[in-house]
Amino acid sequence: TRVRPNSKRCVVIGGSGFLGRHLVEKLLDRGYSVSVFDIRQSYELPGVTFLQGDLCDKQALLTALKNVSLVFHCASPAPSSDDRTLFERVNVQGTKTAIEACIEAGVQKMVLTSSASVVYDGTDIKNGSEDLQYATKPIDYYTQTKIQQEKLVLEACDKHKGFLTVAIRPHGIFGPRDPQLVPIMVDTARRGKMKFIIGDGSNVVDFTYVDNVVHGHILAAERLRPDSPICGKAYHITNDEPVRF
Ligand code: NAD
Repeated sequence: TRVRPNSKRCVVIGGSGFLGRHLVEKLLDRGYSVSVFDIRQSYELPGVTFLQGDLCDKQALLTALKNVSLVFHCASPAPSSDDRTLFERVNVQGTKTAIEACIEAGVQKMVLTSSASVVYDGTDIKNGSEDLQYATKPIDYYTQTKIQQEKLVLEACDKHKGFLTVAIRPHGIFGPRDPQLVPIMVDTARRGKMKFIIGDGSNVVDFTYVDNVVHGHILAAERLRPDSPICGKAYHITNDEPVRF
């Protein structure tokens, strides 16, 4: 007889990262049993199992996904790594592998961390909704692979197979332990490189506090059921008001 995966058992792929670690901490608070699957281990946390592995490695994933019902996929090379081969390998091939491994292992749900930039063509978007089309000219190669990745995950949603998917699209994420966004801004300002205004100074950009991004992921996971309208859909996530930049 097949062991029914415990509905509170989840794996966070990319759980050693900035967002991933916040997600892991909140999942623990909510009574989930959590494992991290990541190429590196960046912290220790009682009750969390760390499985070091690459999401392009199906065997490693299959081992990690035994008796797991829910997967959060928030692994990606940093956008600043500027390495086309790596973006393609991890975001596209790795995501394909992760989907296959989930289906093979009997995982029931996947929540993907996508990005709001998948709809950004270079022209201003204000109060953009999920009806916006994918960018035809993504701003960079990282974003191009985030589009491909999101399509793969959402198209894999299949109620008959019992595999349900949803994507959350934050723009900039800020909060404690942010390794990139704010530190890079502060460093740029310290080096005197923030003296110029592009446009008339009324440009807005969207930042979301990391706890809100985490909350969105967990709500999406908990609402994801075969009869739910969120199956196979992507959702933007933001704070109340965009930050003036
Ligand atoms: P991060 O770099 O802190 O975390 C990413 C994690 O993925 C790292 O721990 C890394 O080791 C892991 N990883 C990379 N390649 C892997 C592989 N091949 N196999 C397994 N693990 C691998 O980044 P983050 O800011 O926490 O971003 C998480 C997700 O959120 C990413 O998908 C990113 O595209 C998305 N996102 C982030 C922001 C932001 O402002 N930080 C904005 C929009 C979307």
